[in-house]
Parts: sequence; structure tokens; C-alpha cells
Amino acid sequence: MTAIDLRLAGGTVYLAGLGFREVDVLISNGRVAAIAEPGGGGSARETVSVKGLHVLPGACDVHLHLGHGSDISKPRVPGDAASETAAAAIGGVTSFIPYVMSPEPYSGQFETLKSVTEAGARIDFGFHFVIATDDQLAELPRYIAEFGVPTAKLFMNIRGDEGKRLGLPGTDDGFMLRLLECLAAHNGMMCPHPENIEAAWVLRDRVLAQDPEGAGGLATWNATRPPFVEADAIRRAAYFGRVTGARVYTVHTSSGEALAAAIEQRRAGSKLTIETCTHYLTHDTGSEIGAVGKVNPPLREPADRDALWEGIRSGEIDTVGTDHIHRPISSKDGGIWKAQPGFPGLDAVLPALFTEGHTRRQVALERLIDLVSANPADAMGLSPAKGRIMPGADADFAILDMNATWVVDKSSLATDARYSVYEGQEMACRVMHTMVRGRFAVRDGALSEDAVGTGRFIPRSLGPKP
Ligand SMILES: [Zn+2]
Repeated sequence: MTAIDLRLAGGTVYLAGLGFREVDVLISNGRVAAIAEPGGGGSARETVSVKGLHVLPGACDVHLHLGHGSDISKPRVPGDAASETAAAAIGGVTSFIPYVMSPEPYSGQFETLKSVTEAGARIDFGFHFVIATDDQLAELPRYIAEFGVPTAKLFMNIRGDEGKRLGLPGTDDGFMLRLLECLAAHNGMMCPHPENIEAAWVLRDRVLAQDPEGAGGLATWNATRPPFVEADAIRRAAYFGRVTGARVYTVHTSSGEALAAAIEQRRAGSKLTIETCTHYLTHDTGSEIGAVGKVNPPLREPADRDALWEGIRSGEIDTVGTDHIHRPISSKDGGIWKAQPGFPGLDAVLPALFTEGHTRRQVALERLIDLVSANPADAMGLSPAKGRIMPGADADFAILDMNATWVVDKSSLATDARYSVYEGQEMACRVMHTMVRGRFAVRDGALSEDAVGTGRFIPRSLGPKP
């Protein structure tokens, strides 16, 4: 029998397929060795009491941007990964998959990306690649088979010069068709940023003429790229996916209309996974955070937020990501028209989701946990190592006190962006410990500094098509 390194004793543990149980978790060589009755299952070298705490599978955030300073395209030094994986660990996230973007082929930069990130990472990670050029498209089968990167992001909103700000060339629906054909042939998945930018350009000029000062704030931004702009692109991406036989993962679904379009396409036979993001569940155009809340797609009206929660209750929404972007707060200067879109979301993700969803809206905790662990792990090829607490899986846990409150303030944040849209809010629970492969990344609410550089790249492959 294998020696047991660690016993997590006395906790309320969320077990795959069973729900919450009062059991001990035995860990050996970074994996779950066994689930045992309290005190049972043999002796361990070390026992940590988690009495009174909830032991959840570590969250898998499969939508974020790991950049460098104001550049959100890719990590450039180990410190980029050290700070943002710290933010992740504080929020209960034990693995994540950033979207790496570049106009150059990834074959020449993959090893550097991987080693720079591994040198700083406190949690495990994969990569998604943004595909925007013919050279990248030609290499895509290699990314899937050799690098373990089976997921390709397409910015449907980057046409013409729209991508200049990010250094990306424009693409069109012909490019999307070829991308989907390649993904279908090689068992990959497209993650489209779904917005019809041509319609958004028309609306932007109209709204700008009506509100040149941006006095309407978040409502003005929402009016420039309203829900139909998003719904149209989701419908098109999913339909193209159905025609080509490729899987599609709709990132950051933000509105009731876009959700309805996705559900309609799934019922028609598209192989579709539907993601929303934490902030569309916790914020709307009425939130008093000004241009800090500018993001694409925009924060929507309260009715949209309610529709997303309904989609979670009904089981139509599969996953929740953060779309974390760690540009400094100065990126938000200049009002709603000039501010850069996006904001950080990792530090508070689990407390924010559970406080809004479970405490305020009475959604079952089990459902919320699956949205950030088993479901994204299954969709993205992180299973069975990640996403569930079961023998053989990695010993990745988010361990929460569901009865302690936590006020989000600057001193509790680890992201190098140094701000949060949740600042000043009181959460109804707090992350006490975060463990990655049996090691503490966060212990008693504090970062373990010896976790830097322990995170590892996870090559992924997608399971059989649903
Ligand atoms: Zn994003």
C-alpha cells in the first residue's frame, strides 16, 4: 500500500457524483490516494484539520489573459505568472488557461512561453492560442497534436484595422470556415469572441454623436455593442460549427439574447459549450463602478443578468470564467470612450460567485461548483486530472469557510493590476486554503511563497465529441 503523505481531516468534501460528504481526503505523491471515513484509511505522515470547512475541487478558470504590464498578449517574464497565479490561488483557482495572442506562428515561441510561465507559476496551466493568420492556421494541427493546445480563439470582432491595438490582423468568415474545418479534422475546438463588429461600428458612431462626453457611462457602452451584436455572432459561429462538424465554445456569454441564440443552436445540433463570466453575473449597467466596468461584451441590463442566472439554474450555461485582464488601473482613465476594456477577476472569483449565486440567489452550491470545476475541466480536456475530487485525480482543492465573511480590499489582492471591481464588497465566504497537487499555494488565507515555480504546463487533448 502506498504511503500517505497528507490527510485532510474532518472537512465537508464535495465528491464527484455524490455531493457533500463528511470524509477525510488522503493524498499521496500529489494525488488523491483515497477518500476515507473520518480517521480511517491508514496513517498519514501529516494531518491537517479542515474541520468546519468545505473542501471543493480547485477551480479551473479557462478564460483569462496573462500578459505583461499593459500588454495583455502573453506573459514575458516569470513575475507575470507569479503575480497572476497568486491572484488565482487567492480566489481558489488551481489551474487556468490563458489566451495567448500573437501575429507570429506559435511554434517558434511555445517553449519560451511555457518555460517563462512555469518559472513563475504557483498553479498549473495550459494555453489557448489566438489564431489570426494563414501561417498559424497551417501549423494548427501541430499545436493540437504536439503541444497539447487543442483550443483556438477567433476574434470574430477583429476585422479590418480593428485589431491594431492588439497587434492582430483582421480575419473574416472565410477564415472562420477554414479554421473550423481544420479543428473538426484534428479534434480541436473554436473559442470565438462573438461580436458583429460591422454592426457595432455603425452603432458606435451613432451613440458617440448622441453622448460625446460618455455621460451615460456603462449604459452608453452597452448601447454601442448591444445584445443582438453578440447574438448574431454566436448564431453564426455555432451554425458554421454545425456545418463543419467542429466543436464551438462560446466565451463570455453576457446577455439573455445571446444565451437564447446559443441554446437555439445547440438544440439544432451544434456541439456547443456555453460560458459566461463572473462579472456578468455580479454586475450590470446599474453598477456604480464607472469606466472601470468597461468590458467587451459590455456589462448588460439587470434583466440580462437575471437571464444568465436562469441559464445557470436550468443547466443551459456550462461554465463560468473570469476573463481576467491585469492591466493597471490607469488603463481606465479618460472616461467610457477612452478606457481600455477588461479588468481583473481572479482574486475574488469563488467568493463572488458563491455570494451572489448561493447566498443572494439561492442557487445550489453543487451547481455553482460544477460550473467552475468539473464542467470546464471536461470541456477543455483537463479531466480526469483536474475538476473533481476522486482517487487518482490531482490533489487540487479550494478549501472555504462558508460561514466567514471577507471584505475585498486592496491589501487582499495579489494581481499586479492592484484593483478589483469587488473592492469594498463583503463576501459571505472566504478561501482559507488552496492546494495544488498536494501543496499549499494559499494557507490560512496567506500566499505560500515557496509555491512560486511549482506550477506545470498541462498538455491537453479533447475527449470524444459529444
Ligand atoms: Zn477574454
